[in-house]
Amino acid sequence: MKAAILVTPQKGSAQHLLIQEVPKPELKPGHLLLRVLACGVCRTDLHIVEGELPPRLPNLIPGHQIVGEIVAGATSDLPLGKRVGVSWLGGVDGDCPYCRRGLENLCDSPTFTGYTVHGGYAEYALARADFVSPLPESLDDLHAAPLLCAGIIGFRSLRVAGVQPGDRVGLFGFGASAHLTIAVLHSWNCKVYVATRGESHRRLAASLGAAWVGSEKETPPVELDRAITFAPSGDVVVSALASLRKGGVVAINAIHLDRIPEFDYDRLLWGERQIRSVANMTRSDAREFLQIASDIGLRPQVRSFPLNRVNEALALLKSDSVDGAAAIIP
Ligand SMILES: [Zn+2]
Ligand SMILES: [Zn+2]
Repeated sequence: MKAAILVTPQKGSAQHLLIQEVPKPELKPGHLLLRVLACGVCRTDLHIVEGELPPRLPNLIPGHQIVGEIVAGATSDLPLGKRVGVSWLGGVDGDCPYCRRGLENLCDSPTFTGYTVHGGYAEYALARADFVSPLPESLDDLHAAPLLCAGIIGFRSLRVAGVQPGDRVGLFGFGASAHLTIAVLHSWNCKVYVATRGESHRRLAASLGAAWVGSEKETPPVELDRAITFAPSGDVVVSALASLRKGGVVAINAIHLDRIPEFDYDRLLWGERQIRSVANMTRSDAREFLQIASDIGLRPQVRSFPLNRVNEALALLKSDSVDGAAAIIP
């Protein structure tokens, strides 16, 4: 099969992935073999190909927002031809202290799709059967792909931030994940304030009904109940914190941050303000989010790329030049 392979993680390379012919994955017990129909491109893929996350598997095939059709390993619940989604959380051990507490997102021995096992930048992919999500019929392959990480983890961020119906919520950065959370927030009658770099990201936020849109250097005109940061930048975390009311929460939706600058505790954190990180996802996050996405008719903005242009998709994501999400159609 054709696949995009990461040979050497390297910062600033223009050709991170090589398109090669490799053997099709062999079916293993408890797994499904999927024909990949689409695979979303995520900022985490950039952190992997640039080596900001340490390499875990040689000659890795990245990609962890896989829409696939079952071609082998089918069961009565997951029959041949069924369309399923595969996300970042590809498996857990099920018996570590975190799994036993129902916190499988924090599992001590997790499997991450497209990082500790091969992912979906390929014509076929293998996935643990108990970690796939059946996909709503209402979403075609291309539009379902970005829901599987950007969407699910964006949704988890809302939960981690403790968003209540009617809250004033700030989104700092407006990429794939933020543009999916705004529709969920509107369905909860929240007002959404978006601070982001890039004129076209600001236009997209305004067109999706944000109550206020500003640049990354501006502060929303009201005190926020909750804020979610999406940019891999600690400066953004501090400006989100500066926008919060007492008792408010900042949730950081980023697997990697450059650093967090020193900030004034008395002014920014005192008053029971909180900073929390958002780590991975659980299967129930996936189930609940996909149900909500189907109920509210969520339709992401997605730009598609063929597999042999995967490097271009990564480069555009890096320069913030994709409005909405990007996905590979192999
Ligand atoms: Zn575990
Ligand atoms: Zn992701």
